[in-house]
Amino acid sequence: MNVTCRIPEGAGYRMARVLVDRDESPFEAKEVDMMGLRQAPLGEVLFEDCRVPQANVCPDSGDTAKLLTITWLANRPTVGLMAVHLAQRAFDLAREYAGVRKQFGKAIGAFQLIQHDLAEIETAVVTSRLACYNALAALDRGERANGLSAMAKRYAVDACDRAIQLAMRIHGGMGLSRELGLEQMARDVRTLAIPDGTPGILTLIQGREITGFDGFRPA
Ligand SMILES: Cc1cc2nc3c(=O)[nH]c(=O)nc-3n(C[C@H](O)[C@H](O)[C@H](O)COP(=O)(O)OP(=O)(O)OC[C@H]3O[C@@H](n4cnc5c(N)ncnc54)[C@H](O)[C@@H]3O)c2cc1C
Repeated sequence: MNVTCRIPEGAGYRMARVLVDRDESPFEAKEVDMMGLRQAPLGEVLFEDCRVPQANVCPDSGDTAKLLTITWLANRPTVGLMAVHLAQRAFDLAREYAGVRKQFGKAIGAFQLIQHDLAEIETAVVTSRLACYNALAALDRGERANGLSAMAKRYAVDACDRAIQLAMRIHGGMGLSRELGLEQMARDVRTLAIPDGTPGILTLIQGREITGFDGFRPA
């Protein structure tokens, strides 16, 4: 297993990547049963008194923290685009359903409140996609994109979560059925909020970029 951790250096610590071979350095690992993204298992790893030979520390020039940051900067808008993909599918289903489901002698898509919800979903999909593309384009240009990347993921996952709830609502009782797959989208999008930065941490990263003050490691 490739583990990123802190190792002692001088009076303090530095970040490092370490190869942990379970045969020579035993540790415990167990799968965590999750509500969503069930096709991508989450694991909890316990390193209790796990000793690793010095030779297993990956040679680098002290750039582990930088590498982690670069990875996160690209991952965040990419995770946001996963939420966009789910919300787009939910929108497509809701639009189609609004055209065929009839109540009170009319397609429900003719009711103003259903049109409002469809407009809200479409707005969430488009603005989320643009926020993610905006962050990725800034990264491609080699610009500092810490704030844009954090903003894109937090905004896209939140907006798409709400969009999927609205799409479920448009489907009435069928929105809750397993048959249409909307309930799976609702679970998956909520799971996306946690990896690569929780909404709280992403807010603080954006806040730090705006103000210059570090809100999660206050001096
Ligand atoms: C699907 C999935 C895949 C994952 N993949 C990986 C992976 O590949 N590699 C990996 O290492 N990890 C992975 N994780 C773990 C993930 O990175 C962590 O769950 C996430 O960073 C949150 O850490 P935590 O669960 O320890 O929560 P905590 O850090 O305990 O946070 C709990 C709450 O406190 C808030 N909080 C924490 N610190 C502060 C602060 N300073 N100020 C304000 N609020 C704060 C958080 O925002 C959160 O709301 C994955 C998780 C999931 C769900």
